[in-house]
Amino acid sequence: MNIKSIFKRFDYFLARLLILFGYNKGYLISFLFHGIFTDENEAFKGDCDPQQAITLLRFESIIKFYKKRGYQFVSPHDDFCNLDRKGKYVLLSFDDGYYNNTRVVPILMKYQVPAVFFISSGHSINQKSYWWDAVYRTEFKLGKRGKDILDIQNGLKGNKTIDIESQLEANYGKGILCPIGDTDRPMTTGELKEFESNSMVYIGNHTNNHEIITNLNDDELQDELIKCKDYVNSVASKGAYMFAYPNGAYNRTQLDLIKNTGYKLAITTERGRNKLPFKDEDKMQIKRFIPKSTYGNKYYYSCMYDLYLFRKWYDIVKKLLIS
Ligand SMILES: [Zn+2]
Repeated sequence: MNIKSIFKRFDYFLARLLILFGYNKGYLISFLFHGIFTDENEAFKGDCDPQQAITLLRFESIIKFYKKRGYQFVSPHDDFCNLDRKGKYVLLSFDDGYYNNTRVVPILMKYQVPAVFFISSGHSINQKSYWWDAVYRTEFKLGKRGKDILDIQNGLKGNKTIDIESQLEANYGKGILCPIGDTDRPMTTGELKEFESNSMVYIGNHTNNHEIITNLNDDELQDELIKCKDYVNSVASKGAYMFAYPNGAYNRTQLDLIKNTGYKLAITTERGRNKLPFKDEDKMQIKRFIPKSTYGNKYYYSCMYDLYLFRKWYDIVKKLLIS
């Protein structure tokens, strides 16, 4: 057993105890999901990037776990600044608007829990694959796996989506961005409308072209925000209340521009809990946890592990041992 697994075990144990004793009182915790799969075979068969490989079963057990422990589930329409400081809250969120997300509707309705789905309008309108899925399935077919594919994807992230897409078409051939099925494609406009007609479904803005906004100047950012906002307003009767930073990246100087486009809530991929009451600046930098299937049955404790309860100490010990 190495140091990391000892720390993890202790952390899981402590996290479980803390959750049982109401550790998250006075906090909002948010979860980020991407694709939702029927089972792990579907997630790992190579059609798309499995990302966290969350199955329907696992998604439902996360909800059950937090419901049972008295957490309240909030929607983007709740007033985050006035949540009860004695309460424990969960915000469910999904990025990228995959068609496979429609699978969670029966679960959301069954438990009456809202969720917000951040979509990129250009992908829905043009029925275009996300570039990372195109890279994943092509490289997977060529025999690459795991970190090798991730390295290629990470190497592309400093570019604008449009440049990445032309590069992929040049390298892999035209048609590379055509979705291959229901697992990897974004929802169509008609599907989004029907999806959003469910009372527990909220749609949010994730830019028009899934641009990492730190790659954009102010005019480009404004254009990305407005195109997606207009589109969401045209498909979603509840409106587009919330923004999610693609890849979680942003500059603090961009926050005002996003606010001025009408967004009072924006969500990052920075891991952590959100302390109540929310201050104004917290509302534009909401933190999220990203549950992974590889956490196995300990995923809800893992969410606490993500709090770096002990990671900080683990890093210090590791440094001491290495040096
Ligand atoms: Zn995204």
